[in-house]
Amino acid sequence: MKKWNLIIDVARCNNCNNCFLANKDEHVDNDFPGYAAPQPRHGHRWIDILRRERGRAPMVDVAYLPTTCNHCEDAPCVKASADGAVYKRPDGIVIIDPQKAAGRKDIVASCPYGVIWWNEERKVAQKWIFDAHLLDQGWKEPRCAQVCPTGAIRSLNAEDSDMEQIAKKEALEVLHPEYSTKPRVYYKNLYRFTKCFIGGSVAIDRNAIVDCLQGANVMLTKDSGTVAEQRTDCYGDFKFDKLDRDSGAYTIEISHPCQGKKAIEVRLGESQYVGTVYLGGQGVY
Ligand code: SF4
Ligand code: SF4
Repeated sequence: MKKWNLIIDVARCNNCNNCFLANKDEHVDNDFPGYAAPQPRHGHRWIDILRRERGRAPMVDVAYLPTTCNHCEDAPCVKASADGAVYKRPDGIVIIDPQKAAGRKDIVASCPYGVIWWNEERKVAQKWIFDAHLLDQGWKEPRCAQVCPTGAIRSLNAEDSDMEQIAKKEALEVLHPEYSTKPRVYYKNLYRFTKCFIGGSVAIDRNAIVDCLQGANVMLTKDSGTVAEQRTDCYGDFKFDKLDRDSGAYTIEISHPCQGKKAIEVRLGESQYVGTVYLGGQGVY
């Protein structure tokens, strides 16, 4: 049987919040018996956009990460509610029954992702329902996918075996795989949120006139092994991405056939811009 999945491309999300607003528009003041009680106007973010800045000027990037219920295949929230207050539908969608779950604040703590919200006014736990009420009426996709202007969100109704192939082909990842909940929300380019970079610029100083040095060879090594190698671009910049946070000591070796070479040591905690490294010098060129 086909099941619903969501694919979110972090590189395409620009934080416009259309997905968040569409969810608000759908649920605030609207009751969908059997699916979800009305969402409070304030406080709840069933689709929440997280933000992370990396680096420092002039090498900075910002990534936005839309987060929501992952509709996990092995959902701890379902396991914690054996009375059917939270259940998984045959199409993969996890629903908190608004009637059966009434008064059950304990359901909020059952989600390791922290995406269940407590509605104090109605005394019910709530979360994104994948717009199951719309899909059941024949909609082809949830509203968040429909309104996303950049195509960052795609929904897929697919067999598990097909989804496995797609995930492999598109190098998709899930949030916190260590939770072992088998999420149905997949991410593309997740490294932009979870990984770090080491970047810098290479220049030459000709009698106080600074020039970017394009085409210098930059090698990143760790424990005497090569991690990656690249050439500086037309701005003299290099950037090694997808490195683990707090991953320790690295050496950057920069060389150019006419301008000599230089090595610098870096200890990686968060993403780092090492500044401008000057090669050559007066009389060298
Ligand atoms: S609608 Fe699309 S681009 Fe806008 S915040 Fe949501 S995922 Fe990002
Ligand atoms: S993300 Fe949380 S609320 Fe959603 S299915 Fe998984 S455990 Fe349940």
